[in-house]
Order: sequence, then structure tokens, then C-alpha cells
Amino acid sequence: MSSNEILFQRAQRSTPGGVNSPVRAFHSVGGTPRFIKKANGPYIWDADDKQYIDYIGSWGPAILGHAHPSVIEAVQEAAALGLSFGAPTEAEVLMAEEICRLVPSIEQVRLVSSGTEATMSALRLARGATKRDKIVKFEGCYHGHADSLLVKAGSGLLTFGNPTSSGVPNDFTKHTLVLDYNNCEQLEAAFAQFGSEIACVIVEPVAGNMNLIRATQQFLETMRKLCTEHSSILIFDEVMCGFRVSLGGAQEIYNIQPDLTALGKVIGGGLPVAAFGGRSDIMAHLAPLGGVYQAGTLSGNPVAVACGLTTLKLIQESDFYSKLSHHTKLLTDGLNGLGQELGIDFCADAIGGMFGIYFSKNVPTSFAEVMQCDAESFKKFFHAMLDRGIYLAPSAFEAGFVSASHSESVIKTTIAAAREALLEIS
Ligand code: PLP
Repeated sequence: MSSNEILFQRAQRSTPGGVNSPVRAFHSVGGTPRFIKKANGPYIWDADDKQYIDYIGSWGPAILGHAHPSVIEAVQEAAALGLSFGAPTEAEVLMAEEICRLVPSIEQVRLVSSGTEATMSALRLARGATKRDKIVKFEGCYHGHADSLLVKAGSGLLTFGNPTSSGVPNDFTKHTLVLDYNNCEQLEAAFAQFGSEIACVIVEPVAGNMNLIRATQQFLETMRKLCTEHSSILIFDEVMCGFRVSLGGAQEIYNIQPDLTALGKVIGGGLPVAAFGGRSDIMAHLAPLGGVYQAGTLSGNPVAVACGLTTLKLIQESDFYSKLSHHTKLLTDGLNGLGQELGIDFCADAIGGMFGIYFSKNVPTSFAEVMQCDAESFKKFFHAMLDRGIYLAPSAFEAGFVSASHSESVIKTTIAAAREALLEIS
């Protein structure tokens, strides 16, 4: 039995499913999850000392590659000064200033410890500031595991959603309207019917939780216009795409200013930092100034903030995003080339340092199209790649991540492995 298998058996005795977050369990692709011992640059090593090129990057944070020496040094220095104080620090001020400077729609920001906390708090703030209850989300977008966001579309057009998780009472989701991503007509209809009751619309402006799906410009513009007209708050959940698709996030690419933004992943550089922020008149509703309560024992933790600040500094080096995008596109161009060369329904798409791989003829543009992709072929491809030392997200419905340490030669190795893998499975 391999060390990964032994660890997985042990893990399942003490932890439900053997993992601390469900997708790590390889549930949808089958097989034994790899237990990671260490990581460096684009590589990770599992418990059996097998090396992989990593395209998960801790599900997004590892934009510099793993264990960047400057980041590790900053973390070590901060840790030596004390791990947590429960009182404000200068580093938190620097972090908030940096986020406000880099994301112009954010006038004020509050630090939290996870993306779930960021979106959950942004929703509460939107509801508190507007004194309205209803929220709009889109099927296929994931915003963390807060109760009112774990919702799938209701059965008819413009019905409120049903919980996707047991343990979530219907009462908690009855104010959540779930619409189709990239569907402007539905959005218009929802505002025509409920406009004066809608506290906010929350959206992944580049969706990365139903594989990678680009929002259309028109979709986000329609949303912005309707929110303004109806005094509803527009929340961009950029936990995944913030500082990932470009330095100013998706809002910079689309040139649309949300009222609030949720951030996470990259801003912590691998330690738990997330944030929500936006218009200062809305943020003023938060305690201790206003009546919307939100708090956290470890919010703005000094070691995590040191990690995040150093990461934010390094991604501002010249050419960072042009190189990251170039390498990601090199990967997806290579994969698209394989689909054509081998005559199979296989394609890829990239935005900044994020990519999607699809077993379909064309890149999907909606949740319904993503659901049509061939998940069985993905499963086989995933394992064929893993055998060849390429570690992809273990699900056909997750985006992949390239880091600054994924060099051209690493990408070429990946494309060569993908060619072999596709030949093996087709
Ligand atoms: N929002 C988006 C877009 C995400 O991708 C995620 C996590 O993947 C979250 C929110 C939740 O973040 P966390 O897992 O840090 O709670």
C-alpha cells in the first residue's frame, strides 16, 4: 500500500471523508487523494515522494508559486514578533491602504480570514444598508458556504431557491433568487418584479466554480445599471479572480465598478486573509460605527497579513501579469492545439492566470453548457495526467491556476503529458 493510501485510511478514521474540505477527497474523479509533504515553485511532492507540476496552487492563493523565499522570510519575521494580538497593527493599516490603492472601487476595506466570511459579511452589510432582504445570485457561482448562499435555482423562472445542503432551513434561502449566469433577460425580469426589495446582486465576474466561465460585458453592465436604478448593491465576489485575472481584478478588465467587493485567496498569499470593501458610505454601516455586526478573533492576523502584503508587493513587479497571462495562454493554446490535432472535443480558455479545460467542442458560456461537458472523459484525463506528474483540480467543474513560477518549459512538459494522456484515453 502506498503512503498516500495509508494516510487516507487513517484520515478517514478521524475526519469525515478523510479531508478538511470536500473537493480534496477526489470524490468526483475517484482514487486516493495525494497527501502533500512539501511544495516549491510550480511543484508539489506527495507522501510517496512523487513530484507533480501543480495547477491547483492551493485553489488560487499560490500566484507566486509555492514557498517564495521573500514570502517565507516575511512570515518568519512576523511570527518571531508574536502570532496574534487581538489589537490593531500597522501591518493591517498598510494592507488596507494597499487594497484600496489597487482596487479603485474599494474606498474602505475590512479584513477577515476566509472568503466565506467576506461574502457572508458583504451580504449582511448590503441587507443592513438597504434594509431589504432579497438577494440575487447565479447558478454555478460559489460564494463560500454561508447558509443563504448554498442555494440552487428554484424550479420555475423567478422562483426563490432551494437549499443545496442539508442543514440549511428553507427559511434561510427563501430570500435568495437564483438566476442563470450570463442571462440578461432573466435579470431584467427579476428587477422588474422585485426591484424595490432586492438588497444586492452577488456575482463572480469571472466564474471559476463551474469550471472557468467568462461573464459577458453586457451581463455585468446590465447588472450594474439595474442595481443603480433600483438602489440595490452590486457585490463582485473576486475571492478567486481578484489579483488573479489582473492587478485590478475582473472589475478592471470589464471596467465596471461594483459597490462592494469580496477578496480572498491571493491577498493572503497562502495564509488566511480575506477582505470585503467598497463604498465608504456603505462600509460606514459596519460596527462599531453602524448597526451591522461583523467581527473576528484572528481578523488581520499579523503573520497572515505579512504573507499577504509581501505577495501584493511582488505581484506589482513590472510585467508580472503580462508574463502570467502569456504563460497561461501558452498552456491553453497548447491544449486547444491538441484538441484540433487529435480531432476530439477538447478545448481550453484562459484569463490572466486562470484557466479552464473542457471536454466539449467549444468553450462553454453558461452553467447549462458546462453541465453538457463530458465529465467521464475528464475523470480519465485527470488520472492519466496525475500518473504523468501533472496535478489538476480533481473535478471537471473547477478552474485551474498558473503561477509566476510556471516557466515555459514547465508548460511544455504539461502539454506533452496532455498529448499522451489524451491519446491514452481516447
Ligand atoms: N468566493 C469564491 C468565488 C470562491 O471561489 C471561494 C472559494 O473557493 C469562496 C468565495 C469561499 O472562500 P473560502 O474557501 O476562503 O471560504
